[in-house]
Amino acid sequence: MSPDTPVAPGSRRTELAAALTAVRTRLTEAARAVGRDPSTLTLVVVSKFFPAADALTLLDLGERDLGESRDQEAAAKAAAVSAQLGTGASTGPPSDPPRWHFIGQLQTNKVRSVLGYASAVHSVDRLKLAHALHRAGEARLAEGGAVLDCFVQVDLEAALAGSAAGRAALGPRDPSAPRGGVAPDALEELTDAVAGSPALRLRGLMAVAPRGVDPGAAFAELAGLAARVRAAHPGADALSAGMSGDLEAAVAAGATHLRVGAAILGPRPPAR
Ligand SMILES: *Cc1c(COP(=O)(O)O)cnc(C)c1O
Repeated sequence: MSPDTPVAPGSRRTELAAALTAVRTRLTEAARAVGRDPSTLTLVVVSKFFPAADALTLLDLGERDLGESRDQEAAAKAAAVSAQLGTGASTGPPSDPPRWHFIGQLQTNKVRSVLGYASAVHSVDRLKLAHALHRAGEARLAEGGAVLDCFVQVDLEAALAGSAAGRAALGPRDPSAPRGGVAPDALEELTDAVAGSPALRLRGLMAVAPRGVDPGAAFAELAGLAARVRAAHPGADALSAGMSGDLEAAVAAGATHLRVGAAILGPRPPAR
């Protein structure tokens, strides 16, 4: 296709619709394979690096849950989407507003901004952040806003390193590429802190499978930690795990929230 070939206005929509169907089929088949009800799964479409126009198209295609990992980008996109929905300028019947899921590393100085648009934060990884979310969450509640859904992010590399079988699955560790999360020995204190805040709702755990590890082994470790958390906090019955490449393994391990980007929106520019 030459650069000046006109692109049909519907083509991105058609592309996204087809990719969504493919991912939803993968989810349904993964759930059925392990006897789970596919309707209990929440697909969080990770729209990071893609424009507000794509987010609007996804909403128009019936998606509600969108994931973002950087506040500056997410705040602008959320504002653009809500302005567009407010004017009713999108084609077709009006879309319901999105639920924005914040899934990236979160600095405490961004918490106020994130609480301006987010329904959920999947990356609660330290006490200092839990305390900042609590304070900003209290302010949001006082202004009539909603309780913030929280997932505590676990460092699965550290978790696997804690057992001989895990260390075998892990192979040599790559300290240059940490994927974030709290170490298992600090998990209880952090989940208790989140659960103890009236402004926050502990939904469960979140993790990213370490690179180079069988995701089945990694998510089995996560499921064990999640069961421990659930014993103390029965309401924490959700589990955020699984991305484009490993969503089947996550569903098999009990994931309820799948964070899927590239398989729906296409490849992102390389991470900086
Ligand atoms: C980007 C990202 C995803 C989506 O990953 P894909 O491989 O594009 O599906 C999921 N979770 C987190 C934490 C991310 O940063």
